[in-house]
Amino acid sequence: SGSGTKGEAPPPQYSKVALIIGIAGQVGSYLSEFLLDKGYEVYGMSVRSSNFNTQRVDHIYINPRNYAHNARMKLRCSILTDSSLCLRRWIDAISPDEVYNLADQYEVAVSLETPEYPDIVATVAFRLLEAVRSHVSVTGRSHIRYFQSGSSEVFGPQSDKSGYLRMNEKSQFHPWSLYGVSKCAAHWYTVYYREAHGLFACNGILFNPESPRQDWNFVTRKITRAVGRIKMGLQSKLFLGNLLASRDWGFAGDYVEAMWMMLQQGKPDDYVVGMGESHTVDEIMMTAFEYVGLEWRDYVVYDNEIPLRPAGVDQLRGDATKAKEVLGWKAKVGFEKLVEMMVDEDIELAKREKVL
Ligand code: GDP
Repeated sequence: SGSGTKGEAPPPQYSKVALIIGIAGQVGSYLSEFLLDKGYEVYGMSVRSSNFNTQRVDHIYINPRNYAHNARMKLRCSILTDSSLCLRRWIDAISPDEVYNLADQYEVAVSLETPEYPDIVATVAFRLLEAVRSHVSVTGRSHIRYFQSGSSEVFGPQSDKSGYLRMNEKSQFHPWSLYGVSKCAAHWYTVYYREAHGLFACNGILFNPESPRQDWNFVTRKITRAVGRIKMGLQSKLFLGNLLASRDWGFAGDYVEAMWMMLQQGKPDDYVVGMGESHTVDEIMMTAFEYVGLEWRDYVVYDNEIPLRPAGVDQLRGDATKAKEVLGWKAKVGFEKLVEMMVDEDIELAKREKVL
């Protein structure tokens, strides 16, 4: 027989096939690493840009053999406004076991000036769900599972009248931003397809996912990047807006595990994912400066040009009791560790910047 021919590797055995929409984003990059480590074959779609914007996944893409099982990953670029036909064709071609929709469009400053900016978030969810449904109805592959990435922005100060600020799956949606409105629609599209069409579709309502791969214009990364550059003598000031703003910040790498766990359950459901505690911008800033042994008062400047957010969401925290009890999920990285990981990464980046 021809089996075992010298030099011929056996074909790789993938446990499952996953499609990640928004693979090159912060959360998408952690999710692809997580799934590749589990032996998945990972396909990803990332938004098209004239600049290369795949830095967060290049290390996997360029050398997939860094991962177990000769992991295979394929990238495609698209635009969020693409018609469902294109998504549908791709889903038909790949026939994934799991689809993760992380497509997002969120920048508060932009959406203040361009109100329609986040509208597409809901439309993409709708189109993807419809593409999955029609794939199932044509092929009969009903085991396909869908994850919708939701946001704490669906909640607002009116979400819980009892004054209990920890939001769970039963807390009322009452968004205070257009982005939050769009995320609510994406959430309800997902519930609709689950209830009306029997799709295995889950919503993960995520409180601020952060990491050393966060975008520079989010306040966490803005701070740690500045601290890294200040430490290396590349920058002398850090301009910040509302220091008392507070959020429930958690590590994006922990959150992707919860997302995956949702799709491994016997039945689809919705889960809040958060740390259950909130910290101010002030605390991030002080933790970061203290970690590198610098006095923040020498560098931080208040900038009243930085747009303030609607006040109410500041106090909200994510109550992940259900995720803990049903999924067995547990975060590994706490607040201080998260800030320190981000500062470490930004010191390394600043060192490289300095050499250039
Ligand atoms: P968000 O939770 O998605 O709005 O995440 P951001 O990281 O953009 O902002 C978190 C909070 O930090 C908001 O309440 C901002 O008002 C506050 N904040 C204070 N200074 C800054 C700043 O310099 N940049 C940003 N992006 N936010 C800031």
